[in-house]
Amino acid sequence: MGTPRDSRTKQAEEIVDRLEEAYPDSTISLRYSNRLELLIAVILSAQCTDERVNKETKHLFEKYDGPEEYANAPEEELAEDLNSITYYNSKAGYIKDSCEIILEEHDGEVPDTMDELTELSGVGRKTANVVLQHGHDVVEGIVVDTHVQRLSRRLGLTEEEYPEPIEQELMELVPDGYWQQFTHLCIDHGRATCTARNPDCSDCVLADICPSEKGDSEIDLASGEPW
Ligand code: SF4
Repeated sequence: MGTPRDSRTKQAEEIVDRLEEAYPDSTISLRYSNRLELLIAVILSAQCTDERVNKETKHLFEKYDGPEEYANAPEEELAEDLNSITYYNSKAGYIKDSCEIILEEHDGEVPDTMDELTELSGVGRKTANVVLQHGHDVVEGIVVDTHVQRLSRRLGLTEEEYPEPIEQELMELVPDGYWQQFTHLCIDHGRATCTARNPDCSDCVLADICPSEKGDSEIDLASGEPW
């Protein structure tokens, strides 16, 4: 078991420093070329890998251009165009409904506030945060996906279980200016080393400060269960 820094703020700073050094090019891995494509890619990425989303959006973004084309498409056809994505039927409905709202209430533009974004269909705080950060350069919060959720708990930054309270705690701890990057760093480390089922603690840059480190700790703080 590693020994965390003596406060959660210092622990968060140390984690950011080390992960930045380990992953200097860390950034969003979804592909898009405008705000609407970003919104659609993020809606599709819920419970689906970015890799699969990128594969599917390659042809989707060639076929549909702009909110009118999504709003006017027959829902079954749009769903078929997404059929390798998890929950593609629901997601086709979210995309179509969101594009209708964008046309009716926002002059065809993806909105730039948390309140307006979360009124779109299938858009929660996490999706809205990604669109604000990468589409509008507005950083209002911290995106808490499954990797951020798991790593924050394993590394002793929070004992909260659900994304929204975790986000609130992280906003107190992660240095200003790193809110956006924190997510990408956690995602890179979560994919490369601190994976859900079999983290490679023996080759981890955070091992000496991680209270879940498998060498001595018997408990995975992410799940609260024994390793
Ligand atoms: S890989 Fe192991 S040591 Fe590293 S952060 Fe994850 S649980 Fe902690």
